[in-house]
Amino acid sequence: MDLTWSETETAFRHECRTWLESNVPSAPLPSGDTAEGFARHLEWEHLLHDARYAVVSWPEAYGGRDATLWEWLIFEEEYYRVGAPQRVTQNGIFLLAPTIFEFGTAAQQDWYLPRMSAAQDLWCQGWSEPNAGSDLAGITSRAVRDDEAGGWRLTGQKTWTTRGAFCTHLFGLFRTDGEAERHRGLTYFLVPLDAEGMTVRGFGRLDGDEGFAEVFLDEVLVPDDDGTVETMARGGILGEVDQGWGVAMATTTSERGLTLRSPGRFQATAAKLLDLARTTGSEGRLTDLMADAVVDAWIDAEAYSLYTLGDVTGVVEGRSPGARSSYNKIFWSELDVRLHRAALDLLGPVAELDGPWMKGYEFALSGPIYAGTNEIQRNIVAERVLGLPRK
Ligand SMILES: Cc1cc2nc3c(=O)[nH]c(=O)nc-3n(C[C@H](O)[C@H](O)[C@H](O)COP(=O)(O)OP(=O)(O)OC[C@H]3O[C@@H](n4cnc5c(N)ncnc54)[C@H](O)[C@@H]3O)c2cc1C
Repeated sequence: MDLTWSETETAFRHECRTWLESNVPSAPLPSGDTAEGFARHLEWEHLLHDARYAVVSWPEAYGGRDATLWEWLIFEEEYYRVGAPQRVTQNGIFLLAPTIFEFGTAAQQDWYLPRMSAAQDLWCQGWSEPNAGSDLAGITSRAVRDDEAGGWRLTGQKTWTTRGAFCTHLFGLFRTDGEAERHRGLTYFLVPLDAEGMTVRGFGRLDGDEGFAEVFLDEVLVPDDDGTVETMARGGILGEVDQGWGVAMATTTSERGLTLRSPGRFQATAAKLLDLARTTGSEGRLTDLMADAVVDAWIDAEAYSLYTLGDVTGVVEGRSPGARSSYNKIFWSELDVRLHRAALDLLGPVAELDGPWMKGYEFALSGPIYAGTNEIQRNIVAERVLGLPRK
C-alpha cells in the first residue's frame, strides 16, 4: 500500500489551498438552510464555479477539471480545512449527478450537468412521503400516462425535502405501475418545481432553520423525451420506466458512501476538537475521560479517511461499493455525533451558549436518520453484506 501523494497531486493540493485561502469568506455565512443564507451560499457557489472548483472531478465540458477521484479527495480535505461554506448544491452535485452519469442519456448529461455545476438548477430530493420513509418502496405518489398530452401526470406528496423551498428542481420516485410488486413499477423522475400543479411549502426544523419543505404535486405533466432542450427543461425520466428502484439505489450508494460525506469534513472537525482540548487543558479543566473521548474521535476520523482510500481504490478499479456504503453511513454519522459530544463536554455548561459546536451537534444528531436510518443500514449490512438470514 502506497499512502504517499504524487508530485502532481501535491501541486494540485497547493493550487486548491492557495485559491481557497484567498477566496473563502472571512466570516462564516449565515446557515444555508435559511432563505438569506441560501442566497449568500449561492454567491459562493457561483464563485467556485467560475474558478472551476465546483465539481473538480467532472469533465471540463460540464464545468469540472477532469480531476481524478484522489484529487477530488484532496480538494475536499482542503475545502473543509479552511472552513469553506457548506455546499447547498450538494443534493444535485453529490447525489443526482453520479446517477445521471450512470443512467442519463448523452442529451440529458449535456443538458442537466452544466446547469447543475453552475448552480443554475438547484436540486432537492423527493423520496420521503408522510407514510413512506424507511420503507421507501411504500411510496404512493404516482405517475399516470397521459397519451393525449404526451407524457406522465404526477400526483402526490413528498416531505422532509431538504432546502426544497429554495431549490428549482426535484428528483423523486413515483409509482408508474400500481399492480407490480412494490419495488418494481417505480420510476425516477426529474421535475422543475415551478411546473404547473406543483406547490412547495417550506417548514421549520427543530433548530429554527426553515430548511425543509413539503412538495405537493397535482397532475404535474412531465413530457416524453424527444431529445430536445425545450422538452428536457420541463422534466424527464432518468433510466427506464418502471426501473426506478435500481436507479434510486445508485443514488443511495452516493448518499451513504463516498460523495456526500468525504473524510475531510470529519478530519477538519477533529482538528478543531483538538484545538479546543488544548485550550481546555491550558485552563486546567481537561479530565482523562475528556482526553480519551477527544483522542478516540480523532483516531476514528483518521480511520474513516484511510477506509475511504480503500473505497476510492475500489471505485477506480471499477468496483461499486453497493450495499457496503451502508458501513460508511453508520460510521460517519455516529462519528459526527461523537466529535460534537466530545466538544460539548469540553465546553461544559457554556456549551449551550456556543453557536457553532451546538449547532453542529444538533445537526449531527440527524445524521443517524437522514440518508436512511442507521437501523435500516444495519439491516442492510446484516442481510446484504454479511449474508445473515432476514429474521
Ligand atoms: C436532516 C434530514 C434531512 C432529510 N432530507 C430529506 C430529503 O431531502 N429528501 C427526502 O426524501 N427525505 C429526507 N429526509 C427524510 C429521511 O429520509 C427519513 O426521515 C428517513 O428515511 C426515516 O424515515 P421516517 O422519518 O419516515 O421514519 P420511519 O421510517 O417512520 O422510522 C421510525 C423509526 O423506526 C425505525 N425503523 C423503521 N423501519 C425499521 C426496520 N425495518 N427495522 C428496524 N428499525 C426500523 C427507524 O430506524 C426509525 O428509528 C431527511 C431527514 C432528515 C432528518
